[in-house]
Amino acid sequence: MTEAAVNIEPEFEEVSLSEGSQRQRSSSDSIACRICQSATEKSRLISPCLCKGSLRYVHRDCLEHWLSRSGLTHCELCLHRFQTYTTLRYGCMESLCVWYRHPGNRGLLVSDALIYAVLSFICFILTMICILVLRFQSTHRNTLQETLASTAVVCFLLLVLIVYLTNLFVLAKDHIIPWYRWWRASRRIRLSEITLEESSGSSLVV
Ligand SMILES: [Zn+2]
Ligand SMILES: [Zn+2]
Repeated sequence: MTEAAVNIEPEFEEVSLSEGSQRQRSSSDSIACRICQSATEKSRLISPCLCKGSLRYVHRDCLEHWLSRSGLTHCELCLHRFQTYTTLRYGCMESLCVWYRHPGNRGLLVSDALIYAVLSFICFILTMICILVLRFQSTHRNTLQETLASTAVVCFLLLVLIVYLTNLFVLAKDHIIPWYRWWRASRRIRLSEITLEESSGSSLVV
């Protein structure tokens, strides 16, 4: 299965806390989020760490996005550790859409769907042939030889169905297992209520 598919991530501009703060220093003294740089009302910003001045303000969504992207749970500048928890990044159906939006996974799905269609067609034709042979033999089953022939046809039909279902299972497994592992491992880091309460309290002091 595709190794590259594990690296599926939504596209967005990656800005580190330190890069954002560099831009912040060069801007005016209006209050802006230190990650996305957009000037915002102070009530919509939080100051969840020990950074001082204009560097202390950040959107909650921007910070959670940055934490999820970087995998860190502390501020890059003051090293303050945030109280966090993780949630799944995507719901089940959303994760399937994101998974198959990836060209490698989509290509594999198309090729496996073609294989599945061919196998289904072959299995259908063989099953119909076996059924016709059995119906013909049921009207002429007089000798031991014909009875044995009917038994052989039934065994062949069972073998065809077992091979078909086994291939179907393998094809499905090759898709389901990598997607499921990626889906469960794709997590979003969230700030806990404790961190948010602390940040709102410290904002009021300024
Ligand atoms: Zn922001
Ligand atoms: Zn900080």
